[in-house]
Amino acid sequence: QEQGLSGQEEKIFVSVRLRPLNEKDRARNSVSDWECINNDTIVFKNSLPERSMFPAAYTFDRVFACDSHTRQVYEEGAKQIALSVLSGINSTIFAYGQTSSGKTYTMSGITEYAVADIYDYIEMHEEREFLVKFSAMEIYNEAVRDLLSSDSTPLRLLDDPERGTVVEKLTEETLRDRDHLQELLSICEAQRQIGETSLNETSSRSHQILRLTVESSARDYAGAENSSMLAASVNFVDLAGSERASQTLSAGARLKEGCHINRSLLTLGTVIRKLSKGRNAHVPYRDSKLTRILQNSLGGNARTAIICTMNPARSHVEQSRNTLLFASCAK
Ligand code: ADP
Ligand code: MG
Repeated sequence: QEQGLSGQEEKIFVSVRLRPLNEKDRARNSVSDWECINNDTIVFKNSLPERSMFPAAYTFDRVFACDSHTRQVYEEGAKQIALSVLSGINSTIFAYGQTSSGKTYTMSGITEYAVADIYDYIEMHEEREFLVKFSAMEIYNEAVRDLLSSDSTPLRLLDDPERGTVVEKLTEETLRDRDHLQELLSICEAQRQIGETSLNETSSRSHQILRLTVESSARDYAGAENSSMLAASVNFVDLAGSERASQTLSAGARLKEGCHINRSLLTLGTVIRKLSKGRNAHVPYRDSKLTRILQNSLGGNARTAIICTMNPARSHVEQSRNTLLFASCAK
């Protein structure tokens, strides 16, 4: 555990979470082909009859077996990185994986735990004054939508010489306290569902970014000279289903959609790969909305955690392998 925690200091912390088989899977007599060993390795237990180019074992910073609790995934896979926002360091936590692999389940728990820890910290540090702001957006078809507004007009991205890419007119709510965030999250959820019914299965095709910005400064005690300001954001990103990065384009209306979703996911893949390779590579942040929005919170001094979620069922083995390949590239 100690090792896992210190490992989170690496630039990109990559973990894999296997979800349990559910009722539906069991009804189909699905079996799980995957096993987690040593806390860091996931092993494919069965040799498939067909020729395989894939290795059977994959090692990451951390792997979470199907009986793991989200609390543990948070503590060992995301906490340090999310809480770096309190030291003025930007960060991003991603959930990556095929539809129905547990991205939303995992990310919503992680967001909740992180917010609780951030508020615990704030309450324990009365010597500083904190300002916490929250915003939420969804990227669908390379259009950015404000999840705190009922206006669904796509938002524009602007280049600000000082702040980098800014989402124009994005609602930014100042949080009163930890309960206020719960209210805002319900609004986001409602906004998302409105989109979902009109756009058919949006959640598998859209990226959701929840962003907390924490600003703090030392309170002015008599004689205190140091009033160092700290400001940073932490982004919780629930990605579109990763099958959107690999699927061949289907006909008709879906063509455009498929293209665009590929763009943000594929660009993210490229950006992550370049970042994991080191400093000198050109990183194509500008090639998609997702990577432009996250540019200040990816690479540079920013810290990143990726939690790759996997459906254990045999029928999903190809997608699971794609997920593991993505995760391997991020290392
Ligand atoms: P995704 O967001 O990747 O499409 P979801 O998070 O919606 O997937 O998960 C699909 C289903 O599996 C949901 O019903 C969810 O509650 C359940 N689920 C996902 N991960 C777990 C887990 N680790 N333990 C128990 N149930 C899970
Ligand atoms: Mg989801």
